[in-house]
Amino acid sequence: MSQVFYNKRILSRIEERVNLIIPIASLVALLSSVAILYSTIPVRFAYIDAVVALIFATVYFVRHVIHTETKLMIIISIGYGVGFLSFADGGFSSAGLTIFMMCNVLAVLMLSRKRGFLSSGISFVLFLMLGLMDYWGWIRNGYGITLAKWAVNVLMYFLFLIFLHTSVYAIKEYLLEIIGKLELNVQKSHYLAYFDRLTDLPNYECLKEHINEEHGQKLSSQYLVVLNLRNLRTVNSVYNESFGDAMLIETASVLRRLIGGDGYLARVSGNEFALWIRLSEEASVVEYTNHLLTQFGEKFELEGVRKKAEFYCAVARSGIGEDFSILYKKVQTALAYAKRNGINEVVVFNQKLEAAYVERERLHDRVKVAVDEDVFTLVYQKQVNSNTGQVVGVEALSRWEDVELGQVSPALFIDAIEILNLDVIFGQHVLRRSFADYRLLQEKYGSEVKLAVNISPKQLISEHFTDYVGGLIDQYAIEHGRISFEITEDVMIHEQTLVKSVFEQLKHMGIRISLDDFGTGYSSLNHLVSLDIDAVKIDKTFIWQHNTPRLRTMLEMIRRLTDAYGLELVAEGVETEEQLENIRSIGCYIIQGYYYGKPERLEEGKEFK
Ligand code: C2E
Ligand code: MG
Ligand code: MG
Repeated sequence: MSQVFYNKRILSRIEERVNLIIPIASLVALLSSVAILYSTIPVRFAYIDAVVALIFATVYFVRHVIHTETKLMIIISIGYGVGFLSFADGGFSSAGLTIFMMCNVLAVLMLSRKRGFLSSGISFVLFLMLGLMDYWGWIRNGYGITLAKWAVNVLMYFLFLIFLHTSVYAIKEYLLEIIGKLELNVQKSHYLAYFDRLTDLPNYECLKEHINEEHGQKLSSQYLVVLNLRNLRTVNSVYNESFGDAMLIETASVLRRLIGGDGYLARVSGNEFALWIRLSEEASVVEYTNHLLTQFGEKFELEGVRKKAEFYCAVARSGIGEDFSILYKKVQTALAYAKRNGINEVVVFNQKLEAAYVERERLHDRVKVAVDEDVFTLVYQKQVNSNTGQVVGVEALSRWEDVELGQVSPALFIDAIEILNLDVIFGQHVLRRSFADYRLLQEKYGSEVKLAVNISPKQLISEHFTDYVGGLIDQYAIEHGRISFEITEDVMIHEQTLVKSVFEQLKHMGIRISLDDFGTGYSSLNHLVSLDIDAVKIDKTFIWQHNTPRLRTMLEMIRRLTDAYGLELVAEGVETEEQLENIRSIGCYIIQGYYYGKPERLEEGKEFK
């Protein structure tokens, strides 16, 4: 930061005060002029003061067109003039010297370095002249000082100027340094608070302020588009985080290039970009966004390779008088809807979505309380060997009856639990309760019965998971090979080596692993080869489908594969005789479904002895 910049700032700060001082000075000069008329002071001083009052008054009236620095220079010049005349009249005993000093201090503090020097130079020359005039007796009331006294005074005045300049400028330099550092820090923290370091794009806060500033606190009608980069999570886990970062950087730069001046782009969260678009028609916004995505597909290239970046897209219109947080909530609701339903097109927010959003928020709030208070219960559904009719296993399934929401379907609350990242704590409750029930289950279905528990992918790879399971097995003395964990193929979006190592530890503890809902998730027959599993559960949707030759061929192929790898094959969702016959005819005999029984509670009140 330069001295000039510093002075400019000081000047801008004191402008109002200077404007106030000028009329006061004018008034004081006028009053003293009048007072002099009634005193013994020579009348010429009254004229001088009157002229000064007039100059100040003129400056005041044209204050808006004169720069503050010029006003200060006028004040200082008048000061020197008055000082000179005062000195000329009274010599060293007059107020002239004091006025000179004051004007110098003012100049050095307020003006630029160059002007400060100039001002001190002028005052010094005047001082020299006045001293000599006094010495030569030219001054009206001069005391006729000696040359030595004059020399001492000149030297003292010179030292005063040197001291004034060195000290004030040293302080100014120091302040400049501090202000420079402070400004840098302010800029840095401003950057950190308002920009995303990875992509250099404005962040959520910045977008919010931008929109609020552009439209005042209350928004007029315009559109906010949110683009959610879909495959980032998979990219992060399948490749690594730096690849994910590179993907975000490239996405940001392509979007920035494509959008240009059409709107304001920000990165509002991990994988979300928002665009405040300068269009006011819904159809044009949707058209623009679709066009953007098509173009994006053509332009996106990562590490020299063309990659497919897919987005969930949502749009919401700001209502007149609404503030930003409402607009953002609306667009997020539309986005959540797009995500939940896997919609590949732009979803525009509407009132129906809002109702769904409110309902979802309510469900989430209640789920948090329910997990916290552990109010879920367990039911067990039989898995039957259809050849012998014997119950070979039971699957533990959670149930929840909320005081406010009533019975909530597991599909809904399990989904909420996963979204809210409560899988681990919820899963621990399920494990603990089902393991505790195992003796009763053995009493009911025979000692050989196996217990199947659903485990979410996040729970599986959570810290201390195997320790927790091991602790329960010891606590309830559960025999080797009696527990099986049902895991969906989604587990493969997590680090594969980690998943495999957890599988290994579980097998070591005598726990069997079943691939649940086979054929619906990140389906890949490759999982049958790469993962060390014990059983495959064919998803109920295949059981319910119309029994076509193509479906049959596919199911037979799965059966041949499981046979070849020595895996058990289970069918779930079998409800009718016909479904039972169909699935048995492809060689799958272990059946779970309403045909054999719905999930049931263990007998209440019966305790294990
Ligand atoms: P899942 O693990 O595939 O469980 C089987 C689901 O199919 C159960 O639904 C069961 O009631 C249902 N089902 C079984 N046979 C039939 C049938 O013949 N007809 C019909 N219509 N349905 C049948 P439910 O209990 O609603 O559970 C849904 C999903 O919720 C489960 O699918 C599982 O993924 C998840 N879930 C349930 N309880 C838990 C739990 O304690 N922990 C975890 N992580 N997930 C759970
Ligand atoms: Mg299951
Ligand atoms: Mg299933």
